[in-house]
Amino acid sequence: MQSSQPTPHDKMMFQLNLRQRGISDQAVLKAMGDVPRELFVTSLDRGYAYRDTPLGIACGQTISQPFVVAYMTEQLDLEPGHRVLEIGTGSGYQAAILSKLSREVVTLERFRTLADRARLVLKELQCTNVDVILGDGFDLPETLGTFDRIMVTAAMEEIPEALLGRLEPNGILIAPVGPMNDRQFLIRVIRTADGFERQELVAVRFVPALQGIAREL
Ligand code: SAH
Repeated sequence: MQSSQPTPHDKMMFQLNLRQRGISDQAVLKAMGDVPRELFVTSLDRGYAYRDTPLGIACGQTISQPFVVAYMTEQLDLEPGHRVLEIGTGSGYQAAILSKLSREVVTLERFRTLADRARLVLKELQCTNVDVILGDGFDLPETLGTFDRIMVTAAMEEIPEALLGRLEPNGILIAPVGPMNDRQFLIRVIRTADGFERQELVAVRFVPALQGIAREL
């Protein structure tokens, strides 16, 4: 159906809205313009792909609101040489954005269905520097090593020490922190020579981070 496809006008308004809401990093804006969000939403939602709203995906999860994706990415202060960890692959959209701005992205998802789908879309888009792993962000495999940047895209009641331990010196982690199914705050943590510096950003609402690999039918 014609009306279910995003139009060039939709894409132009999408970029404009991100700028108006204060996203100013040109590389982030370019990545947001380059990644086709319509490929990461369900076919019924294609026509809404460029609205600034979260949308439902499989397994009862959500693809985040574009402004939040851009904002979190901007706050991560990425450099092209960075190795990045994402917890909560979901649709794979945020991972695709990160892949344009860094050397390597490792993204973990606890639902096999979502991990498999995201892997396919990312392959189709030739995001060859992304590794989608079925796994639990609360129990990271030792072999994954450490990261320059970490982004958590599911709400945690607190940031696990083990996750902070995966940050390289001067590394930055960003995560929504707060009670499940309520409002959370985006927290930005910088690993300094003396420890960890913590900063509260804006209020957000994310689906909860849950322990373990999901059991699916
Ligand atoms: N970044 C995603 C949206 C994230 S929604 C996107 O761009 O589409 C949050 C995702 O985190 C969900 O898919 C959920 O299944 C996943 N998740 C929740 N807890 C997790 C955990 N402990 N480990 C890995 N993934 C988790």
